[in-house]
Amino acid sequence: MTDTDSKLQARLIEFFKSIQGEGKYAGVKQVFVRFFECNMHCVWCDTPHSIGDTTRRFQTMDLDEVYGRIIDLWPGCHSVSLTGGEPLLQAEFLRALAEKLQSQKIPVHLETNGICPAELRQVIDVVDVISMDIKLPSSTQCRPYWPEHAEFLAVAREHQREIFIKTVITKDTDISDIHEAVRMVQAVDPDTLFILQPNTFDLGQGVMGLCQEMEEAASQHLRNVRILPQMHKIMKVR
Ligand code: SF4
Repeated sequence: MTDTDSKLQARLIEFFKSIQGEGKYAGVKQVFVRFFECNMHCVWCDTPHSIGDTTRRFQTMDLDEVYGRIIDLWPGCHSVSLTGGEPLLQAEFLRALAEKLQSQKIPVHLETNGICPAELRQVIDVVDVISMDIKLPSSTQCRPYWPEHAEFLAVAREHQREIFIKTVITKDTDISDIHEAVRMVQAVDPDTLFILQPNTFDLGQGVMGLCQEMEEAASQHLRNVRILPQMHKIMKVR
């Protein structure tokens, strides 16, 4: 650890051990490290405390403290998930932490909203798996982030890092957004795993029909499309 690393601090919400409920690694046991704050404001965000909506309470911790908390939870786990909020907003700390974990052969998974390509460049060589969201404007009710997403995917591709994509489908999602996302992914790599994740709050409100229609459309151009709900919500674990 360098002198600079020992002075680094992060703003964090919580640490816990649980079963991953989303994406390609659903079902594995992970240590979760939830970073504070986000640069988006998705209408359906299920961690409003992490983006500062319900409380601005966070812990400021240094690298050794964070590493120690992870190691306490680590026995029996598959990997560490750095999540948020948006962990890439604290890229310098994230890099130092990921380096330390990798030096102990602990795999690092990054869960990100996929709109910070410059910060991804800063950390990509020390991250093992990237779980990237594509934020559809009709789902999030935020502005579109197509250029940011395209650059983010290009950075991952350039560094040949394992990446898969999740995109949340709500009852209000417009299929034209899926066409746009699929065009973007196809241009980079049509074999990229592309997961349509029905919004848990909209299950039973027609969202599964929409997901099936979108899967049909996406599968015309991509070779690895799946529909997968948030399994941790179904299992009623964190
Ligand atoms: S990107 Fe994630 S953490 Fe940020 S507001 Fe959206 S759902 Fe919440």
